[in-house]
Amino acid sequence: MSDQVNWFVIPSDNSVTSILSNNEPSYDLFNETVFQRLVYGEREYGINLVWEDPEPATPSIRFLAASGAPSAILYGERVAINVRGGGYLRYGEREYGINLKWSDEPVYEWRLLGNPSLVNTPVDIANPVGLYNTVANDYVFYDPRRYGINLKWLRDKGKFNSKPWYESVADALTGILDELGNFVFEIVNRAFGVVDFVLTFFGIMLPKRVRVRIVILRGADGRAIIADGRLPQRDLAAQKQELDDAIAVIKKCFREQLNTRVRAAGGVLVETLPFPAPQAALHVRCGTGAWREDFQEAGKYFRYNAATNRSQALLGYGAPITIFVVDDVEDKVGCSISLLSDYVVVDRVGMQSTKGAPEPRPTTPMHELGHACGLWHSWPALLHTGNLMKSGTPRGIILELYQRAIMRNSRHITFL
Ligand SMILES: [Zn+2]
Repeated sequence: MSDQVNWFVIPSDNSVTSILSNNEPSYDLFNETVFQRLVYGEREYGINLVWEDPEPATPSIRFLAASGAPSAILYGERVAINVRGGGYLRYGEREYGINLKWSDEPVYEWRLLGNPSLVNTPVDIANPVGLYNTVANDYVFYDPRRYGINLKWLRDKGKFNSKPWYESVADALTGILDELGNFVFEIVNRAFGVVDFVLTFFGIMLPKRVRVRIVILRGADGRAIIADGRLPQRDLAAQKQELDDAIAVIKKCFREQLNTRVRAAGGVLVETLPFPAPQAALHVRCGTGAWREDFQEAGKYFRYNAATNRSQALLGYGAPITIFVVDDVEDKVGCSISLLSDYVVVDRVGMQSTKGAPEPRPTTPMHELGHACGLWHSWPALLHTGNLMKSGTPRGIILELYQRAIMRNSRHITFL
């Protein structure tokens, strides 16, 4: 994701695929750095623009083509941008915040830009655009600043930030509190589950359930990491099969080894995120790298997009586990920071099967769920390839009694 091309134009009518000049606001400008839309709102410093969550709401933006043509707006064409409640945006110097002002009349000093080769073709709303101002000769992009809305001209990148030192501290603090909470929840839930833990050792496993969701990230090119809708038919079918196979392994292992049924978290088993993910979330590290990233941009993104439910806010009982399908896990194919988070990551390779393995379908997603439920690479597991917690592939899906007891005792695997 480049800095200058980080806006999505989202139509209120999702059957629309292009941008038309409108009399009424019928679009939103969504910034993919902050996952929020731009709307009119009063603030103490700078232009009255604020960020708002993209939940279904009255659309805020309308575009007017300088040509007055009713046809779809083209890349590079001069347009005016109107914000509901504010007016038309134009370049104008200010003492505080980005140099933008309001105009009552349309000001055609903007261009929507994408790949340079696309100039004069209709803007494709499936891809991000840059907001280019012809007076400033620059792009508007997201960048934190001390005064006014967090927007800047690209040439001002990194300036005017007496950077919210408190912001990065807040991100880290959120991460630490989240991990601490998860750790406490884990201990409390495990203490309460001690009877089931002992019973499992004697081979008695009463039916339990687990809530799981697979969330597929989108790359910087806007394509889903797996099963992108624009793939040729044959590749798409093959990748959908990989997903189905991974899900089948998860269901089979939970059912046969743990007497646990897999539920779709919040009724959604597989979700593809609508916008490209930040680079930090697409390429993740494992080990202490993953733990550190949990406090940074990647962790923030994963927590924001993870499946949640109400009970987890209380004690973590029955918290869903989210499997993020990312582009690459450095030197590995999957990763979990164990009990400390409710998400795991698996990369493109981790979604593929291993030929000749005891379990021929992809086992990495299930293996990472094992980690999230408290299992580690323990030595008996390393000895036979049939065990789920063998560190590399090929592996199977078998769990030893003690592994079953530990997993079933996790706060993610519950009776209710
Ligand atoms: Zn592992």
